[in-house]
Amino acid sequence: LAPDAAAQEALRRMRDASPLHAVLSEVDPSEQLQALKRRLNTDELLPLAGVPVIIKDNLNLRGTRTTCASHMLAEYRSPYTATAVQRLMDAGAVVVGKANMDEFAMGSSTENSAFGPTLNPWGTGRVPGGSSGGSAVAIAARLAPLTVGSDTGGSVRQPAALCGVYGLKPTYGRISRSGLVAYASSLDTVAPFALSAADLALVMGVMAGHDPHDATSLSDSAEFGSALNLRGLRVGLVTEGRRGLTPGVDAALSRMQAALTGAGAEIEEVSLPHLDHAVATYYVVAMAEASSNLSRFDGMHYARRAEGAGGADETMRRTREEFFGAEVQKRIMLGTFILSSGYSDRYYTKALQVRRLIAQEFVDAFGRFDVLLMPTSPFPAFRLGERSGDPLAMYAADVNTVAVNLAGVPALNVPAGFETVDGEQLPVGLQFVARAGDDARLVALAAALE
Ligand code: GLN
Repeated sequence: LAPDAAAQEALRRMRDASPLHAVLSEVDPSEQLQALKRRLNTDELLPLAGVPVIIKDNLNLRGTRTTCASHMLAEYRSPYTATAVQRLMDAGAVVVGKANMDEFAMGSSTENSAFGPTLNPWGTGRVPGGSSGGSAVAIAARLAPLTVGSDTGGSVRQPAALCGVYGLKPTYGRISRSGLVAYASSLDTVAPFALSAADLALVMGVMAGHDPHDATSLSDSAEFGSALNLRGLRVGLVTEGRRGLTPGVDAALSRMQAALTGAGAEIEEVSLPHLDHAVATYYVVAMAEASSNLSRFDGMHYARRAEGAGGADETMRRTREEFFGAEVQKRIMLGTFILSSGYSDRYYTKALQVRRLIAQEFVDAFGRFDVLLMPTSPFPAFRLGERSGDPLAMYAADVNTVAVNLAGVPALNVPAGFETVDGEQLPVGLQFVARAGDDARLVALAAALE
């Protein structure tokens, strides 16, 4: 397809699929297409020429709405473009939409969107996972061939698992965070969804790299697209990840073990005992950082302001009460408590200590193994409303994903078959984890398994 036709096709598909509510706003592609047309007449190399892309609505694109699925930012227009998004456009990609998400990326089901949930195309009474549920559905329902989300504690891998697509959480710092609205800065990553390993290699090659606007971005470069021989690959099967699985997820894990062994890989079980504390540790760190990051939405500097309040204090209070949703307010209050004097040693400092232990366990494991294997989610897509009333049931969706962000290492969800639940065929995903910097090995492993 010519670039204009491809963009029009994506926009048409987005409108046809509007009942899924994967997309919050369309992006008018005409300016991008004009710029692309001029560049197509030069001999510039454009690896993504004319490829329509949908990005999560916490990534800034100059002149468009960036809402983070929050009433707080409902009227906000981006004054600049995120580096990762700019890199996609520099490579010829055309952004056509902004995807639905949990408000400020807080959630595991996309039910926390202030504008209504996204539905899973495999069973429309079910959630797509979250928080990047809109981006996951946009690619699973073939609205666009590439989509981008963010992964702070699993928000790309878990919806990728529940929607049956690839989702790669890169090494912390591999892709610039400049222009990604911050949730928990020490955990946040920009992360792509794709339908094949080759597409993942392509999009990672474009988005990865140092950025002077993000001091935490890595300076070394990574080459994507290399081949990997499964023979002799040392795979650690993580004991802690094998508990509480539904039969379909357990079966997918066994099939993957058989496939790897059949191809000559060496699989051995490995225990990372501190993973039992990953969820508690993650939520302490994430809420603490979120309370700090979201303090900028004070009714003064950014975004909206509640009407009719008298004085600065009341303006701040009313603005945050009116425009933040319940989950966001809860996390800000808990985060503030966790950091408050008299309590921060007991919660925040303790969490940082456990985080270090978890990171060290991964380092030790990678002394013996090339990659680790565990399910991305212990269960397939759950029903809308099934877990939303119970925070602990919702946070259980994150048991296998959050440790990876605490350790800063890369991890990839690969589609691994289906589980039939109440007559519905639901995708199952498995997660491979690699040592810091080894993102390309994960992509090569996915290619070898295809
Ligand atoms: N479910 C986790 C949370 O609510 C992870 C979210 C994310 O990765 N953005 O914090």
